[in-house]
Amino acid sequence: MLSAIAKKVFAGKRITEKDALRLFETDDIFTLGALASHVAGKKNGVKAYFIRNRHINPTNICVNRCKFCAFSRSQGQEGAFELTIEEIIKKIGTGQNGRVRGQTASSKKSSGRQVAHHLSPITHHGISEVHIVGGLHPEWPFEHYLNMISAIKKHYPKLHIKAFTAVEIDYFSKISGRSLQDTLAALKKSGLGSMPGGGAEIFSEGIRNRLCPEKIPGARWLEVMEAAHRVGIRTNATMLYGHVESLSDRVDHLSRLRGLQDRTKGFQAFIPLAYHPKNTEIEGSYTSGIDDLKTMAASRIFLDNFDHIKAYWIMLGEKISQLALMFGADDIDGTIIEEKITHSAGALTGERLTAEQLVDLIQKAGKTAVERDSFYRTVRTFA
Ligand code: SF4
Repeated sequence: MLSAIAKKVFAGKRITEKDALRLFETDDIFTLGALASHVAGKKNGVKAYFIRNRHINPTNICVNRCKFCAFSRSQGQEGAFELTIEEIIKKIGTGQNGRVRGQTASSKKSSGRQVAHHLSPITHHGISEVHIVGGLHPEWPFEHYLNMISAIKKHYPKLHIKAFTAVEIDYFSKISGRSLQDTLAALKKSGLGSMPGGGAEIFSEGIRNRLCPEKIPGARWLEVMEAAHRVGIRTNATMLYGHVESLSDRVDHLSRLRGLQDRTKGFQAFIPLAYHPKNTEIEGSYTSGIDDLKTMAASRIFLDNFDHIKAYWIMLGEKISQLALMFGADDIDGTIIEEKITHSAGALTGERLTAEQLVDLIQKAGKTAVERDSFYRTVRTFA
């Protein structure tokens, strides 16, 4: 019975860790969905967001080699790659649907009637944001990353650059000998606009040691994020679930995120990441649709100080992402265009969706599709 928790949720009261565990354990997914929808509705009404974005991975060469990661390679290993800054600039120039310089998204008819246009659509060859994450390269100096960000900004001044996980920021701080604050401030000065939320995995020390013994501890991940928020860089937060963790580990993870958000208010969105088992050292199986929806809903209810919960369609698939919009999610991510990390681990989805397809998915879930910018400001609303 979830009635005691429901009472708290409808009264707008914070639920406890014990309550959250009960949400994860329940088989009553319909009540869970209704409660999560109530919370999502209070925060975002019937809006569901998407963005025109593109992913770029500068390299998959990584000194860490986490056991759940199918993306990384050692230097010289077959399949290892490095992109030059020029290649990154060129990739960004090939935007949504392979559109190239001179062609914009607005030249193509969209599904759904455009009813509001609060900001100019900031489309660089079809995208408004580039999302950059990669391996911890053993030889690239910190200046290389500063040059990368500056060069992108120079070529595409209006493009928002969301880049580098807390794990990468920690690594940059180590290789440059700078403090976290200096590292982040230098990146911000070069044009970094915000940070993604990767590298959090599961904070529980025991599980983290089994998954990724060389990766920074959860406490350090939180420290980096706190430093980012203090220098004015908004970030996201994630949780990788469905591998070897327990439900209590998930609650502990969410609780640590909620605690930091209480202090800084710097997180924009929480993104539960469904584990993918192919080509990993720990193997295992894919998450179930039921687990995906329960995790989405429990996270939405527990993380009462997060404005947005994202259903990352690359990992959940289009259909579960659509259902997730009825289980507390208010964001379905974006066009993506090229995705290597999850696809290395056996993603069952494609690598790109058009804005029109995203609008269609959202509308068919009974929500109002809103194209957003990187800070959740409305670009366009679709009726
Ligand atoms: S998850 Fe990140 S840090 Fe770990 S091996 Fe993969 S790329 Fe490297």
